[in-house]
Amino acid sequence: HPEQWSRAFSHFIAQCLIKDFEKRPSVIHLLEHPFIRQAHGKEVALQKQLARLIYTQQQSGSIIKTRYERMHTRRPYVLHTKENTCMDDDLVNLEVLDEETIIHQLQTRFADLQIYTYVGDILIALNPFQNLSIYSPQFSKLYHGVKRASNPPHIFATADAAYQGMVTFSKDQCIIISGESGAGKTESAHLIVQHLTFLGKANNRALREKILQVNPLVEAFGNACTAINDNSSRFGKYLEMMFTPTGAVMGAKISEYLLEKSRVIKQAVGEKNFHIFYYIYAGLYHHKKLSEYSLPENKPPRYIDNETGSVMQDIISKESYRRQFAAIQHCFRIIGFSNDEVHSVYRILAGILNTGNIEFTAISSKHQTDKSEVPNGEALENAAALLSIGAEELQEALTSHCVVTRGETIIRTNTVDKAVDVRDAMSKALYGRLFSWIVNRINTLLQPDKNICNAESGMNVGILDIFGFENFKRNSFEQLCINIANEQIQFYFNQHIFALEQMEYQSEGIDAALVKYEDNRPLLDTFLQKPMGLLSLLDEESRFPQATDQTLVDKFEDNLRCKYFWRPKCVELCFGIQHYAGKVLYNACGFLEKNRDTLPADIVVLLRTSENKLLQQLFSSPLTKTGNLAQSRARVTAASRSLPPQLNAGRIKVDTMEMMRHPEETTNMKRQTVASYFRYSLMDLLSKMVVGQPHFVRCIKPNDDREAMKFCRERVLMQLRYTGILETVNIRRQGYSHRILFEEFLKRYYYLAFKAHQNPPATRESCATILEKVQLEKWVLGRTKVNL
Ligand code: ADP
Ligand code: MG
Repeated sequence: HPEQWSRAFSHFIAQCLIKDFEKRPSVIHLLEHPFIRQAHGKEVALQKQLARLIYTQQQSGSIIKTRYERMHTRRPYVLHTKENTCMDDDLVNLEVLDEETIIHQLQTRFADLQIYTYVGDILIALNPFQNLSIYSPQFSKLYHGVKRASNPPHIFATADAAYQGMVTFSKDQCIIISGESGAGKTESAHLIVQHLTFLGKANNRALREKILQVNPLVEAFGNACTAINDNSSRFGKYLEMMFTPTGAVMGAKISEYLLEKSRVIKQAVGEKNFHIFYYIYAGLYHHKKLSEYSLPENKPPRYIDNETGSVMQDIISKESYRRQFAAIQHCFRIIGFSNDEVHSVYRILAGILNTGNIEFTAISSKHQTDKSEVPNGEALENAAALLSIGAEELQEALTSHCVVTRGETIIRTNTVDKAVDVRDAMSKALYGRLFSWIVNRINTLLQPDKNICNAESGMNVGILDIFGFENFKRNSFEQLCINIANEQIQFYFNQHIFALEQMEYQSEGIDAALVKYEDNRPLLDTFLQKPMGLLSLLDEESRFPQATDQTLVDKFEDNLRCKYFWRPKCVELCFGIQHYAGKVLYNACGFLEKNRDTLPADIVVLLRTSENKLLQQLFSSPLTKTGNLAQSRARVTAASRSLPPQLNAGRIKVDTMEMMRHPEETTNMKRQTVASYFRYSLMDLLSKMVVGQPHFVRCIKPNDDREAMKFCRERVLMQLRYTGILETVNIRRQGYSHRILFEEFLKRYYYLAFKAHQNPPATRESCATILEKVQLEKWVLGRTKVNL
């Protein structure tokens, strides 16, 4: 009986365990082991014995390295030896490599709560849909600066690899996280930031604190509850953490892409507006300050009322909203926003909610029938007061517009529909610009201190968390943009993994069967090409005042003649696209308007007169994005020089040209559409990515029910297939995963075959001498590199 175990007996058991462990090249779950299934209460004693034993064996060399890992409360300790267990940590090591084996591997690992698995240098992350205790500071320590193989796969290992890569080679790094909505990208991004802040320990604790608050703050404004994910990112985010040459964190910068502004004014059934609206509502309610912001206590404003009638109930009762409000206030303060600024932000948010409540009715007079007015002035007055503008002027700007013809200004009235559109356009613009301002402000507050290090000599690790591929029952312009972005990321992934791999072989003169893969470039061209690509066609059509969504779809049909595009019969305004991740049916209703994203000049002029300084600022200059165009162009040019010609001949160069022509820079300011801005953002992002050394994290959603421990084979298989992971495994397996330049190889390993004074020349022969001396298997010498 375990109660009666003596120390000697525990010791004996431990010995048996280790013996067993050595025989079985896999992981031991201590509590699952038959020996200790019934050892209740003795695990700790046993573990102590084990630790002692392992230590002595390590000394004597029979166990090379061990690792402990706290996984799950039921089976607290998992023990690995370095030599044997890594076999299934990396799918590339599998002997049989078909879909069945891979999925089986992933499933078995998942059942053991091993959510991470490598495929060469790519990390697969299965969403566990439960909290795991593997992200504590102890784990950060465990993964600090050690070889990848000495620990089980982990997101920290990827962060660590990026960090070490940056410090060792003085090269920027980027971590690209991809996957469907709800697959765990944003969580992964947080974990990476957490580990990087741990690694880049600056003396400056305040800075670290600030950086950790960036994600929560930005996500309060940019994330929302959707049908798929309660915390879905409604924008793309590229977070660059900047480090000094010695690897101390010195600042951070975010770029945001494509905020889904339309969510401010309307949400699909079962979805919600951006988190921040509910947070401030709950916070202000709690602090009895709703009336100060003209927000009603009984009936929630239209923009956040999802017609279920439970919103107000949620706001009042949900503890989490209130906590989040406090958290957001904390974020603002830590990062360094002033009280005035925060106050202005709240006023603008409340202003938006009140704007949404402004209603219009038609009035007809003898001369005019297309006229609207605001029957009940309360919302109007409230909105105007919160935005610090005149109520009358606001009403005027909503219900009429100026037209300038032949030097003469004529005032035309707006119909009710038109007035509603203007109102909503104003709300979207307010929110969109507020969001950009917050991002810019964060960037200013987190920019590196010039006294510590000038930005040029610093290096960075960028983390890309971009909205996943989306395919809903009804897909609109937003889904199209999101999916194009994903198409671009996939293209980059393919290029990196496949094309670079093949070119490497060719240039090294090593024979390797060229691996086939699904190249999505033709589809990407269908979207991005000028002048006949989908986005260009959309822009062209958006310029015609007479165009309708119907003429747009007709135009697509006439011009996009490829196998990726089709037009289903009998479904009006619909068109289909065969994406790398599957077929998506889009509904073009509203495409033109969404692309034009027009904000009447009258509204801009009015908002500029606001007495709220922040608001004035939001509308007084053309919105400047973080980073500047010259910089990103220089980056692309530099990248295109350093890229191998095969890659460079195509997209990068074309896109550089494209960026030169970006409307923001041209003197005759063409109206900038959402599509053209989107295209530019994509290129800007790509330019950042091609400069850095990439690391890929592929997030996978094991089931659609957000259930812990549930592994739906079909769903996983589908994601593995379309993300190209299966092909990746194939190509990696055929290849050699390590490549080291002769010179580097000699520097590191000459002592294995040469004497210190010998100083062998950096040639194939010298390398061969070493490799033969240590009797390594499976290596080949290329023209310049040792391949292992
Ligand atoms: P995405 O950004 O890909 O849409 P999220 O990162 O928001 O997905 O993840 C969706 C949800 O899945 C999270 O809110 C969280 O509940 C869960 N989740 C994701 N990754 C993890 C993880 N590593 N550990 C625990 N839960 C996770
Ligand atoms: Mg997300």
